[in-house]
Amino acid sequence: MTTTDLPGAGLTPRAVAPTPTPGFSPEKARKDVPILHRTVNGRPLVWLDNGATTQKPRQVIEALTAYYSTANSNIHRGAHTLAREATEAYESGRAKVADFLGAESPGTVVFVRGTTEAINLVAQSWGRANLGPGDEVLVPVLEHHSDIVPWQRVAAERRARVVPVPLLPDGSIDQDAYADLLSFRTQLVAVSHASNVLGTVSPVREMTALAHRYGAKVLVDGAQAVAHMPVDVQDLDADFYVFSGHKIFAPTGIGALYAKPDVLAAMPPWQSGGNMIDAVDFDHTTYAPDPHRFEAGTGNIADVVGLSSALDWLTSFDRKAVAAYETELLAYATQALATVPGLDLLGSGPDRIAVLTFTLAGHDPTAVADWLDQDGIAIRAGHHCAQPLLRHYGLESAARASLALYNTTEEVDQLVTSLHELQQTG
Ligand code: PLP
Repeated sequence: MTTTDLPGAGLTPRAVAPTPTPGFSPEKARKDVPILHRTVNGRPLVWLDNGATTQKPRQVIEALTAYYSTANSNIHRGAHTLAREATEAYESGRAKVADFLGAESPGTVVFVRGTTEAINLVAQSWGRANLGPGDEVLVPVLEHHSDIVPWQRVAAERRARVVPVPLLPDGSIDQDAYADLLSFRTQLVAVSHASNVLGTVSPVREMTALAHRYGAKVLVDGAQAVAHMPVDVQDLDADFYVFSGHKIFAPTGIGALYAKPDVLAAMPPWQSGGNMIDAVDFDHTTYAPDPHRFEAGTGNIADVVGLSSALDWLTSFDRKAVAAYETELLAYATQALATVPGLDLLGSGPDRIAVLTFTLAGHDPTAVADWLDQDGIAIRAGHHCAQPLLRHYGLESAARASLALYNTTEEVDQLVTSLHELQQTG
């Protein structure tokens, strides 16, 4: 281990620079991502807003161009070469997502616009069919709004209840309270695999096992987790697992819903129209097999190609080594940020992805983000679509730096230096 002086005049304590992680170097990833090489306000871009969206490798950008340049067609119904090629690209993307998630088969994967649409699909299809008066949906307080509001809407319609699961002071889900709240009224537990504000990784395997004792289903929101850790939905025993492509180096507008085969088979279709039918008559319509039954209309074919390429890119790295690197980077960033006077980090749960949400005494979070932007550093400020969680900390707003595999200790140093300078300006 070596120690480095943090930037800024005479700072103590020192942050310990991580030893290089065997099997992974962020430079390998950085060289593939063109946008990381631009400048912002005359400074090299430091992209620390990965929780909002990730930047795209050249391989993904090129896959989109190649698709539109050589294979663009509508899928499934066409009898010509391009239709067959586009269908093959789309369906092999589904197989890749299934493989990536450790799912039973490609038939368990439904393409959607993203996490939000996946949760709405489950709420409107499974929820309307399975929730009744007095039933409960358990939702931890740390959830993103997109894992709260769809449940509120369907619960109101079905006269069911959304029950918040409280947090411990460190920001992790209170597992004793969770065990107490579970009952035979619980139909569903909706929990994020990793919090977008605190980075806390929830013990979803254990939570799922407990929920299943009561016959409840479990939806895991993997929006923040998938880019940071290998996922195995069968090992988690999740009934539903959802994620957004754009948070895992793929384009916007594409994401996936995984559902266990028997759970998906028992769900009514959500949206209706072309592509999801078998045969239509004015008297009677029959539906296509799963998962096509849940994909009404023309899908986002090109972005499935982009997602496929992003998964290839990410899995070309040793994912365990990437996770180890990100853990080291998180430890480094946590230590380094602790040197900034007046900076308070939210959340200190034991198992976390590299998300650092903080307040800075004397400065509004938006002003902090604006200041950092002048130095080319992109972070996010606001309620992070998690107002109940921020209120748990008595806050309406906070600043968040969220890291990915292509971020470096040097970038963390630039963030910390800029924050020191802000504090020195008063
Ligand atoms: N869930 C979590 C934990 C998130 O962090 C986000 C986005 O930030 C979402 C859901 C919503 O994702 P999207 O806007 O891609 O649908």
